[in-house]
Amino acid sequence: MKKIIVLTITAVILLLFISCDRINNPEYNVDKSSCNSCGSCLSICPRDAVDIGQDGKAIIDQTKCNQCGKCIAICPQQAIF
Ligand code: SF4
Ligand code: SF4
Repeated sequence: MKKIIVLTITAVILLLFISCDRINNPEYNVDKSSCNSCGSCLSICPRDAVDIGQDGKAIIDQTKCNQCGKCIAICPQQAIF
């Protein structure tokens, strides 16, 4: 019984840790089925974090993106989430 309680508490702490990390470090991604390759997100990105991949769709470099949200606001397809 004691082991189950310890495991449950550990699991809850782990879930809280993962949730907080997600809130503090959200990632923006591109829905490739919606992207029309217009390039608006590339033009507006202040961090040069967006590129067009070989498939012609926008991709976001998570190491450069600071989650400013400008690409989301300008995307005509609402393809960035
Ligand atoms: S602004 Fe939207 S539709 Fe245009 S390239 Fe970027 S993700 Fe694709
Ligand atoms: S959220 Fe800002 S920094 Fe990140 S890709 Fe979009 S425009 Fe660039």
